[in-house]
Amino acid sequence: EVTSTTENLTDSPHYLAEALIKNGVKHMYGVVGIPVTDFARIAQGMGIRFIAMRHEEDAVNAAAAEGFLTGRPGVALTVSAPGFLNGLAPLKEATENGFPVIMIGGSSTRNVVDLQEGEYEGLDQRAYAEPFTKAAYRLDKIEDVPLAVARAMHVASSGRPGAVYLDFPDDAVAQTMTKADADATLWTATDPNPSVQPTQASIDEALQLLAGAKNPLVVIGKGAAIAQAEDEVQEFIQKTDLPFQPMSMAKGLIPDTDSHSTSSCRGLALRTADVVLLIGARLNWMLNFGEKGWNPNVKFIQIDINPEEFENSRKIDVPVFGDIKSAMTMLNEGLAKTPVKASEEWLNLLQADKDKNNTKFAARVNSGKVPMGHFDALGAIKKVYDKHQDLYLVNEGANTLDICRDVIDVYQPRHRLDCGTWGVMGCGTGYAIGAAVTTGKNVLYIGGDSAFGFDGMEVETACRFNLPITFVVLNNGGIYRGDFENLGNDGDPSPLTLMYDAHYEKMIEAFGGKSYYATTPEEVEQMVEEAVASGKPSFVQVQLAIYAGGESGHIGDLNPKPVVGPL
Ligand code: ADP
Ligand code: MG
Repeated sequence: EVTSTTENLTDSPHYLAEALIKNGVKHMYGVVGIPVTDFARIAQGMGIRFIAMRHEEDAVNAAAAEGFLTGRPGVALTVSAPGFLNGLAPLKEATENGFPVIMIGGSSTRNVVDLQEGEYEGLDQRAYAEPFTKAAYRLDKIEDVPLAVARAMHVASSGRPGAVYLDFPDDAVAQTMTKADADATLWTATDPNPSVQPTQASIDEALQLLAGAKNPLVVIGKGAAIAQAEDEVQEFIQKTDLPFQPMSMAKGLIPDTDSHSTSSCRGLALRTADVVLLIGARLNWMLNFGEKGWNPNVKFIQIDINPEEFENSRKIDVPVFGDIKSAMTMLNEGLAKTPVKASEEWLNLLQADKDKNNTKFAARVNSGKVPMGHFDALGAIKKVYDKHQDLYLVNEGANTLDICRDVIDVYQPRHRLDCGTWGVMGCGTGYAIGAAVTTGKNVLYIGGDSAFGFDGMEVETACRFNLPITFVVLNNGGIYRGDFENLGNDGDPSPLTLMYDAHYEKMIEAFGGKSYYATTPEEVEQMVEEAVASGKPSFVQVQLAIYAGGESGHIGDLNPKPVVGPL
């Protein structure tokens, strides 16, 4: 009697998809090809939503955005060698940002690669991935599928989250095992992101230091957003009245309009604070390493899940090692015994500075000038955002990034995604797609013409999947701005120059989306409102003045200046 030889079997693609689903994976972002095309189709057939994208960098960024928004690793898929290499930069970015993400990369036959016989797209990918990730693993045996997935889940999610690479060579792709064995040995990662309770002593010390402070300040970083600790952080601010400075991606954890925010008096707050509680924020370049611009006698309390972060750049008076939810819960409880309250004097000092700065700011966002500058355009978009406070805002660029961060208030946690710790460009359209797929909500992308150019082809993906994304490109015709001159005489454009007369919005017409072109603040407001309200893929180009914007945006001081002519 002859029976089918395969009916009792499973294979690696099916088993891997099953393990991912068991571990809660709902989406996969990627670009298919040898040897993972069938894996993507099988995963889709089994219920994973597969978002086929145009570039691996964007796919990994989309998965990283999902990781940031949910706290669970997003999953991306690439083909071998070149596709894999395209995914490395965003893997490193996710690791720097602390976003959980898993990239699965198809790769070529192990033994041929290892003897360097000249295999098709032959590359020892696991080894290449190592320095770009928290960990890089290879799945060589179908029996190891549950282990590989559980291991990836734990490492990507726990401690400071980050990127994990999982190599999936074609000889493993082709393996089979019996369904009975596969079912019997499948398991789900147990508590991949365990809580870590700080010691009571560290909490007590933190509260004592805050209680004795004259000008205590809280800095909320994106770690608090990743930890989903908004309730605990809000409770702490309510009980203590402490002023807080939100870092870029922590905006909205407490609404930017809250009276305790020091966003519009940042300089004064940092200069005068004598005790600072860092909640998931690193004293890296973004906070001037806790040195320049800070009170020279400032004392720091730092809550972090990664003990290696403490004293990375200066003395930390009270390190609080633990997860932010646990730490904030314990701090809130400890307030009964050790009350902390900001003084009227401190709050009034900050408020007076805010009032002064807000008046100056209001004039800048309403200059009435056409062609517009960044403030005019973003001031108009702010009016739209204020009416749609559940919009996910994705922001990249130089001036477009820096000024948008200041102008557009965010009201809900994890509703602002931007270029993060490294300040990269070309992450925005991937983040927008990840945010739209993950949340099902409307997304507003705001990028400069240069930033958008890195990953603009994903407009097609947004249209193909009919995602509710409005792309807004602020065009000033170049990197920083469009009016830099060529210092030579070959007649070419300057290295900073892009096409000022471009119509980026026309791109979306090629894919059936709706386009708009705005040249005045009134048009910006009306068109962005219409685009956002449509809930459809849409694109607004905002034409700025060619001279709008400063070199390097707000971080010009990081740009070494030439010592010898001709600049
Ligand atoms: P920002 O750029 O907003 O200042 P950073 O990315 O520099 O924020 O810092 C975030 C910090 O938060 C990192 O050092 C990271 O280890 C930490 N972190 C991330 N998740 C948690 C968590 N659940 N609990 C405690 N710390 C966390
Ligand atoms: Mg530009």
